[in-house]
Amino acid sequence: MWHGTRATRVAVAEAQAEDFDLCNECGGLCCCLYLAHDENGAYIGDGWLPEYIELWLERLQASGALVVTDTEYRAGEAGVEPLHDPRLSHLPTAEGAAYRASLPAWVDVRKCQFCHPDTGCLLPRTYRADICREWVCELWRG
Ligand code: SF4
Ligand code: SF4
Repeated sequence: MWHGTRATRVAVAEAQAEDFDLCNECGGLCCCLYLAHDENGAYIGDGWLPEYIELWLERLQASGALVVTDTEYRAGEAGVEPLHDPRLSHLPTAEGAAYRASLPAWVDVRKCQFCHPDTGCLLPRTYRADICREWVCELWRG
């Protein structure tokens, strides 16, 4: 939660507006949400990843980016289709492998379902998860 002064908030908002291109250049390093494997390729998602995926589904539904029901997984009000469903793209099973094989090769399932690997977040800022609109990384100037 951000606790800065109003003046600081304004300064940060201006920096965010100025540095939007930086995120496109970076490609969304901070958006590598689903790091399900260690450096040797072993699955390390047991005990935390499913809950973490659910947390992000809630965040992205709350922001209007995503609709998730028992039968649907699709774009919300923002009108941007998610690139993958992390509930499937991280399954360490044959079903998960089949789903991953069905995705375009350029989709990086380690990243948020709205993160394009070349240009970063596909969502208009107002539809990003709250945490993404409040957080400013060390790469940003200002
Ligand atoms: S906030 Fe920082 S780490 Fe995240 S996409 Fe932008 S420049 Fe990259
Ligand atoms: S909503 Fe956008 S900024 Fe937030 S994690 Fe996903 S791609 Fe990154």
